[in-house]
Amino acid sequence: MKNIAVTHIENRRLFESATGTVKLEDWERQHLHLCEVCQSVFCVFLRQPVSNPKPARAAKKKEPVA
Ligand SMILES: [Zn+2]
Repeated sequence: MKNIAVTHIENRRLFESATGTVKLEDWERQHLHLCEVCQSVFCVFLRQPVSNPKPARAAKKKEPVA
């Protein structure tokens, strides 16, 4: 199993990237490829209507480190 010893991408960055506001850095894109946690967060943001600015507070910030 891979040990991703990198900081997770900020939820805000994922959201802004999902909405096309910003582009992810190289390390962020690479991390996103490998990290299921960030992928799932990113998917959630992608499904959100852009017109709805309701902040999706990350309720599950602490993911169990398997
Ligand atoms: Zn991550």
